[in-house]
Amino acid sequence: MQHFPIFLAVAGRRIVVAGGGETALAKLRLLLKTEAHLTVFAERPSAEVERLAADERVQLVRRPFAPGDALCAVLAYAATDDASEDARVGRLARADGALVNLVDNLEDSAFITPAIVDRDPVVVAIGTEGAAPVLARRIKEEVEALLPSSLGLLARIGKLFRGAADALPMGRRRREFWSDYYGDAGPRALADGGPGAVAPALARLLANHLEESPTPGRVDFVGAGPGDPELLTLRARKILDRADVVIHDRLVTSQILDLARREALVIDAGKEGFGASIAQADIDAMIVAHALRGLHVVRLKSGDPTVFGRLDEEIEAVEAAGLDYGIVPGITAASAAVAAIGQSLTRRGRNASVRLLTGHDVAGFAEHEWRALARPGEVAAIYMGKRSARFVQGRLLMHGADPATPVTVVENASRADQRVLATTVGLMEPAISAAGLQGPALTFIGLAPRAALTAMPSLTQEALSS
Ligand code: SAH
Repeated sequence: MQHFPIFLAVAGRRIVVAGGGETALAKLRLLLKTEAHLTVFAERPSAEVERLAADERVQLVRRPFAPGDALCAVLAYAATDDASEDARVGRLARADGALVNLVDNLEDSAFITPAIVDRDPVVVAIGTEGAAPVLARRIKEEVEALLPSSLGLLARIGKLFRGAADALPMGRRRREFWSDYYGDAGPRALADGGPGAVAPALARLLANHLEESPTPGRVDFVGAGPGDPELLTLRARKILDRADVVIHDRLVTSQILDLARREALVIDAGKEGFGASIAQADIDAMIVAHALRGLHVVRLKSGDPTVFGRLDEEIEAVEAAGLDYGIVPGITAASAAVAAIGQSLTRRGRNASVRLLTGHDVAGFAEHEWRALARPGEVAAIYMGKRSARFVQGRLLMHGADPATPVTVVENASRADQRVLATTVGLMEPAISAAGLQGPALTFIGLAPRAALTAMPSLTQEALSS
């Protein structure tokens, strides 16, 4: 940026313009929007400039610009349609201490006059540093169309109420009041009752906002469990019952979403199908934006929110916004899946620790302590592991795992369409690919389904016998 945009205080101050033709007039038309005192220096002013002088809108001095003419002026325009005369004016005005603009001479000018969209006191200035005046004009047209002509009036009336609105506590409540006014009450009053109706409507709106004592917004990070609504915690159910907004992952089932308060706004933050899913930063912003409006936001995550749930990023965003939050734990996929196969994650004499692994991390297939994982008796639960099965198999065998080590995949754990695939490290690929898994699947290394469970209807017979 070679030019820094600012709004200059010109009310009651002097601006001088050298030149009395069309070029000078173009600048005067803009300058006449301000409350500055305008002085024009021109030997032969055009009829229109004469008229402005007759109407006392500008002061006209009928001679060429002279030393001292720009004393006490904040701005000086050299607009004489003569490059050498403009240069002379520029030198003199600079010597008098004014900021100088030579029309159509960017290089020797101290400032540029932007294209302006005027909804006084709302003013949009558009500049391209001289690179693309046509573009500036197009942007101006678009912004003109965007801003209703009533905006200035609303802003002027709003300005009169700024002091009164300070009775609202700073921050969210004051912001809400102003956004109600500009977004709704103001334009509506103007449309229904004309300019005279705006101030009374604003006073009523302020009274309403002062009466209200809205509860502050809050975010709860809630574990939805593996899918079966019966595996929700009581607290999760209670909170879903009160939520204003539910922002959920792709894996949260519709039966669970059905438990949300009927009036709640339910947002899918894990939509696929549009190509990439929603960016994490956008989810963070969405959570915060709703809570800042005073709403109770439930961030509903499959399983337990603390397991591969990107919880920390979201908590940090919520904390940064100064919002209260809570975490409601849920049953993680590994717990549901291990229950489905009648095993336990740890067992005396077999494994004193269990690892929760991800098949993928930000860099692709995730690396782990393969040598330790390959030891007999070790148990690991792999999340997001469908596509990395061959990679995991290769790494384990390479680090000395017994090919007969059991591997069990539980798809759609706890759901009606739950499937179990029992295999071994040596056979897991192509067995897993061949199974054509559609739903979320959790892979256990080191665990086989308990034999007695083969009679259970939730375990498919053919999968177990493979
Ligand atoms: N926070 C979640 C995990 C999110 S990562 C939890 O605690 O469970 C998503 C992965 O979880 C899926 O790729 C899958 O590996 C696993 N997962 C989630 N729900 C599952 C289910 N019902 N059955 C099997 N695996 C599941």
